[in-house]
Amino acid sequence: MWVTEAMNGFGLTVEVTEHLCHRVTPYQTIDIYETTKVGRLMLLDGIIQLTEYDEFAYQEMMAHVPLMAHPAPENVLVIGGGDGGVLREVARHTGVRRIDQCEIDAAVIECAKQYLPSLACGYDDPRVCVHIGDGSEFVRSHENEYDVIIVDSTDPGGPGAPLFGEEFYRNMKRALRPGGVIASQAESIYLLPEVVRHLSDVTRKLFRYSGYGAIMVPTYPTGMIGVCVGSDGGDVRVPARELPPVLAEQLRYYTPEVHRGCFLLPKFARPLTEKA
Ligand code: SAM
Repeated sequence: MWVTEAMNGFGLTVEVTEHLCHRVTPYQTIDIYETTKVGRLMLLDGIIQLTEYDEFAYQEMMAHVPLMAHPAPENVLVIGGGDGGVLREVARHTGVRRIDQCEIDAAVIECAKQYLPSLACGYDDPRVCVHIGDGSEFVRSHENEYDVIIVDSTDPGGPGAPLFGEEFYRNMKRALRPGGVIASQAESIYLLPEVVRHLSDVTRKLFRYSGYGAIMVPTYPTGMIGVCVGSDGGDVRVPARELPPVLAEQLRYYTPEVHRGCFLLPKFARPLTEKA
C-alpha cells in the first residue's frame, strides 16, 4: 500500500502498512498511517503534515529560529500546530512563561494525542493554554502581548488561507510586544515559489529585519520547506543570545550555525526573497 501527496505536478509517495485514523471534520480530512520506513505519517486533506522520522527538523527550526532571535522571550503564541510538535520545542525554553496556542480544529489535537504521542507531549506542559478558533481572528483581538508568534499552518488552500494574507501579518505585528519576532511556515522554493515571494514581500514591507530560512525535510515534496521570519527588534537571521548547553543537547537539527546558514539561499531563489 502506498500513499501519495500530489501537488503542482510533484508527488511524494510513502509505503504504508496500516490506516490508523480517518476523520472528516468541518475544516479538513485527517489521516494517519503506519509506514514501513518513516514512522507514523499525518496528512490533512491529503497533504503530508509530518512523519515521525523527520518532523524534528521542521519543529526545531520553526520554534528555535524565532525564539533564539529574541533576546529574552517570555510570551509565545503558536497559531495552528495541532500536532503539538512546535509546542514541544517551545516548551524546551525555560525562560518562556506563557505559551498560547490557537488551533482551528480540535480534532487534529485529539488525533495527535491518540496516535502521535511523541509530538502531542507538547500539550503536557503546564504553560500551554489552548484556544480553539481561527488564528486570523485570534490575533485581531490581541495587542502588545507576545514576544514570539509562530504560524505553523497548513498550505494556503483550505482553513489556512487567511493566515497568508497581509492583513493577518499586520495584526500579528500589532499583537507583538516591542522587539517581538514572527515566524511562519513559508512553503518550498521549488514547489510554491509564488507563496515564498508573497510572504517574503509582506514580511520585508512590515518589518525592519526579515528573512526566509530553508529547512531540509525529506518527506515534504521537493525535500524542503521554509520559515519566514520578521522583527523590528534585531536581525532575525542571527541568534540574539547563546544557546543554553542543556537545550543544545536536546536538539538534533538546530544549531547557531544552522540558524545563520539557513538564510543563505541558492542563486535562483534569491529573487524570490530579496527586494527586486
Ligand atoms: N507542518 C505542517 C505543514 O506541513 O504544513 C503544518 C502542521 S500543523 C498540523 C497545521 C495546523 O494548522 C493544522 O492542525 C490545522 O488545523 C491548523 N490550521 C489551519 N488553518 C488554521 C487557522 N486559520 N487558524 C488556526 N489553525 C489553523
